[in-house]
Amino acid sequence: MSAVTLIDGKAAAARVIAEVTDEVKVFKANGIAPALAVVLVGEDPASQVYVRNKVRRAEECGIRSLEFELPSQCQAGRLLALIDTLNADASVHGILVQLPLPAHIDEHLVLQAIAPVKDVDGFHAANVGGLTQGREVLTPCTPAGCLRLLQDTCGDLSGKHAVVIGRSNIVGKPMAALLLKAHCTVTVVHSRSTHLPELCRLADIVVAAVGRPRLVKGDWLKDGAVVIDVGINRLDEGGRARLVGDVDFDSACTRAAAITPVPGGVGPMTIALLMKNTLAAARLQHSSVDRSQPAMEIPA
Ligand code: NAD
Repeated sequence: MSAVTLIDGKAAAARVIAEVTDEVKVFKANGIAPALAVVLVGEDPASQVYVRNKVRRAEECGIRSLEFELPSQCQAGRLLALIDTLNADASVHGILVQLPLPAHIDEHLVLQAIAPVKDVDGFHAANVGGLTQGREVLTPCTPAGCLRLLQDTCGDLSGKHAVVIGRSNIVGKPMAALLLKAHCTVTVVHSRSTHLPELCRLADIVVAAVGRPRLVKGDWLKDGAVVIDVGINRLDEGGRARLVGDVDFDSACTRAAAITPVPGGVGPMTIALLMKNTLAAARLQHSSVDRSQPAMEIPA
């Protein structure tokens, strides 16, 4: 078996960011300044880091970013009022509410309050439904990033058998929908599935989005499989903090043709695709504003 290829998510993300940066210039030349609003409720340190990274990356691409911080004890009404204001503000193209929300706020209610055309996380039911119908909609960033890594690595995905491990609304389900749209044969397995190793061994592509460190072993893979490891698990190994994926990297490398490392695989793609989605949202809003005007030269 030839050596495994490491799928370089940092390099792929840099390519996406370069595309976005060029596209932002075209928007600006057409008098539109793409803008992303990021809303954080509470003081969770991990969420604060995620928000800071998103804002920094937006600014690097030339996307205007607006940050809103609400205290953890704030009532849902205050958050919903802020979302209403941002929905009505034509200068704001994307709205992202950082998850998780404090337990007293109904996450579903909040996500449904975001205008679907500004829903850069792709979590609104209208976008989820559109994705399952195979329409072009705003799509969750992590699975969209995984798809791009797969297409960069494999080219055409038609007819390939993909096994997706995990059925969350954020990763597993939209990943399955995107792979179906890309003409894969898709099997979704989850915590109640049986015969996981046997099912994985049938796969040309394995996407692991589980949250269980090193669950997927090398002998679960067929020779030449392409493996996308979405998992981010923090372990304390011998007193040292370590990030590992849902795939047992060392044993997987003995079977896989290509694999994403953790860190440096899927992670960097998530923020890059958020930037892409912000431009897609801006495009949606400006193409529907005034159909009497000639189409703007905004890249598709
Ligand atoms: P989740 O907890 O919402 O869902 C996990 C899924 O795994 C569930 O559907 C569950 O049925 C399934 N599962 C649990 N145990 C299983 C088992 N033993 N066998 C098979 N399936 C099992 O998690 P999520 O939000 O989908 O995230 C999954 C992982 O991906 C986490 O480690 C998370 O940190 C990571 N993640 C990474 C990024 C990124 O940008 N790289 C983004 C989102 C999530």
